[in-house]
Amino acid sequence: MPKKQSTSAQRAREAARQGAKYTQALRSHAGTAASVREDDRFGGHEFEYEQATDLFRCTECRVYEVTARDTDRPIRPCAGLAGYGGDTERVYLLLTENPALPYSHVAALAGHIRGTGIGRAPRFSCRDGRLLAESAPSVVADLARRVALLTFTVDGREVPAVSSVDQLTAEAGRAIIAENRAAYVAEYGEPT
Ligand SMILES: [Zn+2]
Repeated sequence: MPKKQSTSAQRAREAARQGAKYTQALRSHAGTAASVREDDRFGGHEFEYEQATDLFRCTECRVYEVTARDTDRPIRPCAGLAGYGGDTERVYLLLTENPALPYSHVAALAGHIRGTGIGRAPRFSCRDGRLLAESAPSVVADLARRVALLTFTVDGREVPAVSSVDQLTAEAGRAIIAENRAAYVAEYGEPT
């Protein structure tokens, strides 16, 4: 019987079968920063286990890991959401929740952003009433406009969801994710 290998990939694969995030598990085993997307060997993809096919598939661009790696060169970079139109550049919007809201609507806000198809809230994007939304340069203005118009109904009144929308470069956005992640780790320890 061959000796069972215990590579980080296999451990992560096993973690994924137990419901954890495959790419994140691999990144944490490899000791790399989860916030560094394009610079890691996953090409910015967020692969998760798909039960129906027993394969790993990117939650963003929907490509299968085996397909993305089917090349002599490094892994094909993630094209992101379909709404990004194949644009692999990233920009961010820093959104400040409207302080007039009686309680945080940040989860609903993140859901609305995802629902536009042209933005998403990455992991560790939320802290202290602020939400970082990732988008692509070609569609970020549209996303900013839509978020600025978004309202929540509170006691029968329409209340704006956000009090400010600031556009950030990819670098500035990733720096905020890294800060948020560090704050999370300081409070709760390394994420699993
Ligand atoms: Zn992808």
